[in-house]
Amino acid sequence: MLAEDFIRQEAFINGCWVYSHDKKTFPVTNPATGVLLSEVACCDVKELAFAIKSAQAAQHLWSQKTAYERADTLLEIYYKLIERQDPLAKLLTQEQGKPLAEAKGEILFAASFFRWFAEEARRSYGEVIPTTKTDCRYITVKKPIGVCAAITPWNFPIGMLARKIAPALAAGCSIIVKPAEQTPLTALAFAQIIDDLKIMPGLVNIVTTDAETAPIIGEKLCVSPEIRLISFTGSTNVGKGLYRHSAENVKKLALELGGNAPFLVFEDADIPIAVQGLINSRFRNAGQTCVSANRIFVHQTIHDAFVETLVTAIKQQLKLGNGLEAGITMGPLIDQQAVEKVKSLVEDALQKGATLASDKKVFNSATGLFYPPIVLTGITPAMKIHDEEIFGPVISIIEFSNEEAVIAQANDTQSGLAAYAYTKDIKRISRLSDQLEYGMVGINYSALSTAEIPFGGVKESGLGREGGRQGLEEYQEIQYLCLGV
Ligand code: ADP
Repeated sequence: MLAEDFIRQEAFINGCWVYSHDKKTFPVTNPATGVLLSEVACCDVKELAFAIKSAQAAQHLWSQKTAYERADTLLEIYYKLIERQDPLAKLLTQEQGKPLAEAKGEILFAASFFRWFAEEARRSYGEVIPTTKTDCRYITVKKPIGVCAAITPWNFPIGMLARKIAPALAAGCSIIVKPAEQTPLTALAFAQIIDDLKIMPGLVNIVTTDAETAPIIGEKLCVSPEIRLISFTGSTNVGKGLYRHSAENVKKLALELGGNAPFLVFEDADIPIAVQGLINSRFRNAGQTCVSANRIFVHQTIHDAFVETLVTAIKQQLKLGNGLEAGITMGPLIDQQAVEKVKSLVEDALQKGATLASDKKVFNSATGLFYPPIVLTGITPAMKIHDEEIFGPVISIIEFSNEEAVIAQANDTQSGLAAYAYTKDIKRISRLSDQLEYGMVGINYSALSTAEIPFGGVKESGLGREGGRQGLEEYQEIQYLCLGV
């Protein structure tokens, strides 16, 4: 099948392809070319109400399936994703912009969650707790939390979707997903898999909306008592709003919010390994990832050597362009707003004395959404880029000389998602693990995310963990059963 075969217009609710009641649609375009890919159904609260009703009915039936049956369904989805990896990757590149190799990586990443949670579903054990009395037994059982909702972002349109749908299904929950307005097509292509496999209607619902309707749908999800969990990946502000709205009915929230990852390169670091780790982390998805290395602290004794190696590696490795073309390693940013944000951070830094250490080749395109990979040095606290999340292909380097001070600087943020450090000193590694206030720490390694690990942050970076054994527990409640004997 071709990528084009998976392009849809309708949302997917109760196992049916549906338009919104007023036939309203919104456009989805290719950020590299500006070409219109599809007009997609703009659902509102009417369609959401239908999705909630369907999900409730499916939840009731699905929760009665054995873990073995649920695992089988997850594996079927896994194999379908593997089978369709090429057309799905092409579609993902078209709507999101990332290079084809990265898009393929994301499809496999998405598939891996179905495999992992199929396996976890069968190993989700309760406990028998030793009692203080002889006339009863204490038992805990894990139960599905109920109907779930997911709101997903555009930077990993299918990765984030899979990270939420797979554990929900494994736990025995149904789910309603609202994908990002920029990238609903990959989500609908996923729905095609659910449809083709004839999976229970209402178990997975994809409710598409435009940007204007997203807050209305979000609020409705928060105040609907039928929804027991909302899993959200996106900006900190939107996450906080969902948290506030959900307080009324004490809904559980799983939040993956913004990051502001420090990347510490100590004087004893292996420079080529640190440079490669930084390139992989910063330029993947053109820097549009929440775990991307954002504040780069380099020890003053190796600063110049590090920058020289980095600038050479960027020249050799990064080629900007349409992600569907061979040899392209970096695509466009998602939209004009993203480009403007990066531009203003860079201009502010340059005005306040930062140095552009690399070339900055202008890349002309139909959409104007391409921003070249660059390196800035001499970053000071007066510059906005010193503290803000960049979400673009810019490396901003801050020199440091003292370990204690740099750890304090690394922690000086309300974000706490991921941190990275490069050093060979085992005692320092232990100090870093103790002192870095982050949910995830990469030491001499920058590719953190896989299905097996608990992904998530502390402080304002979020609540809960996705993936790993813990990722299943997010979708479960514990029931304590006191059994008189
Ligand atoms: P970004 O700024 O990276 O696009 P957002 O937090 O705005 O991040 O978007 C992430 C997801 O949240 C998208 O699916 C978007 O449509 C959705 N969204 C945006 N605003 C709201 C809102 N107020 N309530 C619920 N969902 C929202």
